[in-house]
Amino acid sequence: MTNFSELGLQEDLLKAISDLGFESPSEVQAQAIPILLEKDTDLVALAQTGTGKTAAFGFPLIQKINLDQRHTQGLILSPTRELCLQITNEFQNYGKYSSGLRTVAVYGGASITDQEKQIKKGAQIIVATPGRMKDMLKRGMIDISQLAYCVLDEADEMLNMGFYEDITDILAHSPKEKSTWLFSATMPKEVSNIAKKFMNSPKEITVGQRNVSTKNVSHEYFLVSARDRYNALKRLVDVNPEVYACVFCRTKRDTQKVAERLIEDGYNAAALHGDLSQSQRDMVMKSFRNKQVQILVATDVAARGIDVDDITHVINYQLPDEVEIYTHRSGRTGRAGKTGKSLVILTKSELRKIKQIERIIGQNFTEESIPSGEEICEKQLFHLVNEIKETEINPKIDAYLPKLEEMLIDLTKEDLIKKFFSVEFTRFYNYYKDAGSISKPSASERDFQSNERSDETRFFINLGEKDGFNWMQLKDFLKETLDLGRDAVAKVDVKDSFSFFNVAKTDEPKVMQIFENFTYQGRNINVEITKDKGGRGGGRKRNDRKKSGGFGKRRDDNKSGFSGARKGKKSNVESSFNRRRSKKK
Ligand code: AMP
Repeated sequence: MTNFSELGLQEDLLKAISDLGFESPSEVQAQAIPILLEKDTDLVALAQTGTGKTAAFGFPLIQKINLDQRHTQGLILSPTRELCLQITNEFQNYGKYSSGLRTVAVYGGASITDQEKQIKKGAQIIVATPGRMKDMLKRGMIDISQLAYCVLDEADEMLNMGFYEDITDILAHSPKEKSTWLFSATMPKEVSNIAKKFMNSPKEITVGQRNVSTKNVSHEYFLVSARDRYNALKRLVDVNPEVYACVFCRTKRDTQKVAERLIEDGYNAAALHGDLSQSQRDMVMKSFRNKQVQILVATDVAARGIDVDDITHVINYQLPDEVEIYTHRSGRTGRAGKTGKSLVILTKSELRKIKQIERIIGQNFTEESIPSGEEICEKQLFHLVNEIKETEINPKIDAYLPKLEEMLIDLTKEDLIKKFFSVEFTRFYNYYKDAGSISKPSASERDFQSNERSDETRFFINLGEKDGFNWMQLKDFLKETLDLGRDAVAKVDVKDSFSFFNVAKTDEPKVMQIFENFTYQGRNINVEITKDKGGRGGGRKRNDRKKSGGFGKRRDDNKSGFSGARKGKKSNVESSFNRRRSKKK
């Protein structure tokens, strides 16, 4: 195993590394640091988040810049404000003994003049989101004429978020002689385009296999009827008493709805999506980070850049529209050498996506059953037993011992154990005793699709791969042409000469109007409403007869027993339960 001291790093950085408690370099650090230190070169590194890539470019960058000069020499572009702040914070730790180092974060949603002032004071390194960076360059607030190093961090995520033009603009306006270091978890065409266009014979390193999600993550799916989706989520949470999870939903509305239901049902949950203000988002992230919130329900866009170690589970409440995004979701767990699980709750109509995802991640899913009430009660009970066994005895309890013994004198040891654990066990038992099981959908339910998408219209468009589009490019093209906002276009499915996409029903007239007499590269573009609302491509129609009922009695385990207890007077039992749920780990 390599040591940090063998990588060519200076003493001040080695001292900071020792303070950080990093014992040995991670794979990407062991590979990248010597290359970057040896000479000025371009680099393409394929590495997942959580592999230690910030330090892989951070240490060489700090070592290479001239700390006696105050002008900007290094620029790091990263997809979100959250990530910018994290990188800046990490750099402060890395540069603890590198006197004179100033790193400034630049991102949207905060005062641009304050950021300008910070930079004017001298910043050898700027960590920026592409949009704000471009804006400040345009306004002459930042001078990058002497830039020597440019890092593109999480390049695929930046492009997913539609930053292609901003990035290419920034690169085009920076000195040609600089070195560019590109870090990306995957290598879609847009990322390799940037590498081709702006980089000079880059060295390439790959950590693990290309596009393969981290080996520390196992993938499981749970087949349910659409109507059982929420209850399935609750069971997956309940069967994992130490859960610290990120739950992903497809839309902002579903994210809010699921979080609200969880909160109502007594869970420490919170929503994170683009309709929240920046300060609300910051608050949610702070609570999640310090584990006051155990379940973060998020959209893909809002969750980008979440860099929280210790997440035990990623739960895909719904699969993403574009299966490629699954890798980003599952990469939120299994970080910093820990293991994690990525769970998918899905209906039969989504099953085919699992095969596509397996191809992308190079790993197989296992199909699991939603746990029964009995299993959950047992798990919770034994978890409590272990917690009690591990609890440190508070010496102050000694003073009460004689009285306690007197009060409990009539109870045998067996009774005492039974009564003590019933306090917790009964709550779960009462909730689950009549809840029945959540089984796989039966064959007769095969064509049932949830009405989650009934508020969207699916369109056909006669543009496809032949016209040079992949799903990401077509999504960008549609978003730009329709001007409907970031999350407005969904379920883009590109075929050879045509494609499909969804937008909200309310935007249907606008889509039809914009594409009336629309031409693309001299060709008439034809956009039509398709009958299919759900799966990719055209095809199966929703079975409305089945949708309107006919599946028998709806199981009523929506309301949790916990919430029932919560509504009445707060019992001792309940407050003990609350404490357990909200305790900081
Ligand atoms: P990153 O991939 O840069 O987001 O890093 C993921 C996490 O791993 C961060 O919390 C880092 O502080 C941590 N980390 C980075 N390098 C090492 C290392 N060599 N040893 C232990 N932890 C590390």
